[in-house]
Amino acid sequence: MAKVGGLADVVGALPKYQIQLNHIAKVVMPMHKTTFLLSNEWDVEFKGSILMQHQHINYTIIKEKYNSLGFDLYCVDILGLLDRETVYGYDDDNFRYIAFQMAVVDWMSQWQHQPDVVHVHDYHAGLIPFFMRYGKAYAHLSSIKTVLTVHNAQYQGWMDWNFANYFPSFDQWKSGMLEWNNQINPLASAIKCADKVTTVSPSYMQELMYQANGLENLFQYEKGKCSGIINGIDYEIWNPETDKRLTHHFNIDTVAQGKLRNKQFLCETFGFDIQLPLIIFIGRLVGEKAADLLPDAIHQSFERYYNQFNVLVLGNGNPAVEYALSSIRERWYGYYHSQITYNETLSHQMYAGADFLLMPSRVEPCGLNQLYAMRYGTIPMVRRTGGLNDTVLDIGDGGYGICFNQASVLDIVYSIGRAIELFKHQETISNIRQKMMTINNSWNKSAAEYIELYYSIYR
Ligand code: ADP
Repeated sequence: MAKVGGLADVVGALPKYQIQLNHIAKVVMPMHKTTFLLSNEWDVEFKGSILMQHQHINYTIIKEKYNSLGFDLYCVDILGLLDRETVYGYDDDNFRYIAFQMAVVDWMSQWQHQPDVVHVHDYHAGLIPFFMRYGKAYAHLSSIKTVLTVHNAQYQGWMDWNFANYFPSFDQWKSGMLEWNNQINPLASAIKCADKVTTVSPSYMQELMYQANGLENLFQYEKGKCSGIINGIDYEIWNPETDKRLTHHFNIDTVAQGKLRNKQFLCETFGFDIQLPLIIFIGRLVGEKAADLLPDAIHQSFERYYNQFNVLVLGNGNPAVEYALSSIRERWYGYYHSQITYNETLSHQMYAGADFLLMPSRVEPCGLNQLYAMRYGTIPMVRRTGGLNDTVLDIGDGGYGICFNQASVLDIVYSIGRAIELFKHQETISNIRQKMMTINNSWNKSAAEYIELYYSIYR
């Protein structure tokens, strides 16, 4: 329906797997004006209105008619506010997300059967546990259990106290449950109010106790209700044997030939020599992904290992990084290319056709790219942090990846050297691919862990 990063992969997959475990899972999200919206049919489920200070705001809940994603998908439509093409990044985001959350709680308060658990994701839904627990009109929701999953603690949705005027009337004695550092902090509020808090990997939860963009003490204080559950991957979508976005399919038995054909497609498209190892980067071009290091690291690696490897970058984000990644194209023409855009189809083709995937992330709550890469027989080169630490083991330790410690140009260049060397030993590469492709990173396991977590608070 809409995707910026890994949160979309999780919310799109987890409910499907929960339903397979015989539970009822429904998803509610803002109605963005996306291709999915326009190319599917929708029923109007509910019409209501919320009062934001003195302004009545009408909302409509629509439901996707044919359950095409494998679960009930509801979208909140608020004219002029949520129905935009880009998910976030607008000046009025605070107001937009308050309205979205108020509409969700208002609608839910009128359901005949209340849910057992409401599971919110990141700060954009972080005020919901507070509204449910302390909203004067929602006393009947106050005993419903809530779970927060933190996909990214860098972004917290900070807002000035004036914004509280828009909130539904609440018990003023409880305003401390909204606050962190003299501001309203929706992520902190959800950590305080939710019955359980999870992050998308155990290592990331450990890291947040010491590095959480100002929330370290809160995570430490609340650690009794915090745990990490690693994300799975949606095998219905991410399967090299059936992936609709690939023209050349393969499985564990045909991986060598299958990857070669996908690599050939990439090499023809971007003018690379197929004999050389192909290293890719896919992701948001932001500091957390250490994307700012890429131009220098790529440049220095080519100076050191000229003629020995190719690099293909797919991503968008910080304009300065976008510019730097584009401007080195001419210098390393024939060996390097960057696509500064978001392109889901190309990303699948890259996971399938590449030899190595580079992820030098400074912060990586879970990371899905490395899981997709391994599923498609592409060797991950990752910095040991967060979920990367939990999912990739270095070949030197009997594993299947290239791991390094620092998000630095030096470590990236060194790892590229290791990749080039490894590529000379095709038998080892073939063994590593076999190993990676048999790892079970499916959602089945993680979905069951979430259900266990719900039971621990519901019963
Ligand atoms: P994050 O959520 O921090 O962005 P994750 O690794 O959890 O990182 O998820 C990233 C997801 O977004 C993956 O599915 C990846 O393939 C996809 N992705 C990121 N940038 C792009 C892009 N420019 N084009 C296509 N897919 C992208």
